[in-house]
Amino acid sequence: MRSLINVFDLSKEEVGALLDTADDIIANPAKYATACHGKKIATLFFEPSTRTRLSFEAAMLELGGQVLGFEAGGNSSSSKGESVADTARVVSCYADIIAMRHPLAGSAYVASKNASIPVINAGDGSHSHPTQTLADLCTIRRHKHKFDGLTVGFCGDLKYGRTVHSLIQALSRYTGIKIVLISPKELRLPEYVKNETIKANGMEYYETESMTEVIGELDVLYMTRIQHERFASEEEYLRLKDSYVLDMAKMELAKSDLIVLHPLPRVNEISTAVDKDPRACYFEQVLNAKYMRMALILKLLAERDCEAPAEEGEYRTDLVCDNKGCIVTTEQELPHLFRKGVDGKYRCLYCEHRE
Ligand SMILES: [Zn+2]
Repeated sequence: MRSLINVFDLSKEEVGALLDTADDIIANPAKYATACHGKKIATLFFEPSTRTRLSFEAAMLELGGQVLGFEAGGNSSSSKGESVADTARVVSCYADIIAMRHPLAGSAYVASKNASIPVINAGDGSHSHPTQTLADLCTIRRHKHKFDGLTVGFCGDLKYGRTVHSLIQALSRYTGIKIVLISPKELRLPEYVKNETIKANGMEYYETESMTEVIGELDVLYMTRIQHERFASEEEYLRLKDSYVLDMAKMELAKSDLIVLHPLPRVNEISTAVDKDPRACYFEQVLNAKYMRMALILKLLAERDCEAPAEEGEYRTDLVCDNKGCIVTTEQELPHLFRKGVDGKYRCLYCEHRE
């Protein structure tokens, strides 16, 4: 049985096949209308994310299946009492597939190890949200018909932006991609993402603080929100805030076939005037996320009887994960396990926190 915890759980070929399935669903929705008849998805949302939950539920309903589940209120303690492992075991008796959102990194992995049905990670803390990345890839390919050779700009908070790190990782499998990183100094892409993803794969990249300087070169512009409190000071915020707002004046400098993406929700980093521009693809991205979730549900249910790929690697059991956002902090009797990475350093199996 297969689950999807990280986007790299899928091979490049499998990602390509999911993109093909999504294209086919878009072209022939009737063909899929009863594909999951009699099947149920359980949406287990230990923290609120109404848009993501509705997307998974709409995906299953459009496949002719049914949905059940819960969404916890603002604080995750409403789930207090039962472990993720036990919840996964129990829900396996009620549903055919799980989509799970949880505030702690590694929670979906723990669920997948205890469920007897496939688990889709719908966001585990600051760690991973693979179906968002699949939606990003889907939107790029539907417009550009390829990934190789694209110049992709990322603008906003590149330090904490989980969706940015995941998309750069996903793009690192293709050739000739140029990455342009646009952010204030204090919100630059972390060194480990540069070293382990961009440099390790020989991707060309360029860092700048100015969107206007580079927007004309881009094929894809991925915008993210900069939270006010991320700036070093109020003066710094006031000085920089408009440089990272995409408006029509900046769009006039861009290519006619640029596409603009944003994981949403948007606050004010894209002017609403841009919404009417045909290059604005962020609402289409929401729709594509639903189609990619449909494709993924079909794939995981079809492969339910397949063996999960073996988890290879060298492990250490003598290290302790001190990441407060890791599932080892709350899950009873979960052993601390660190797996050796390609760089020889060990990372927490659940949250990828470094030794
Ligand atoms: Zn950890």
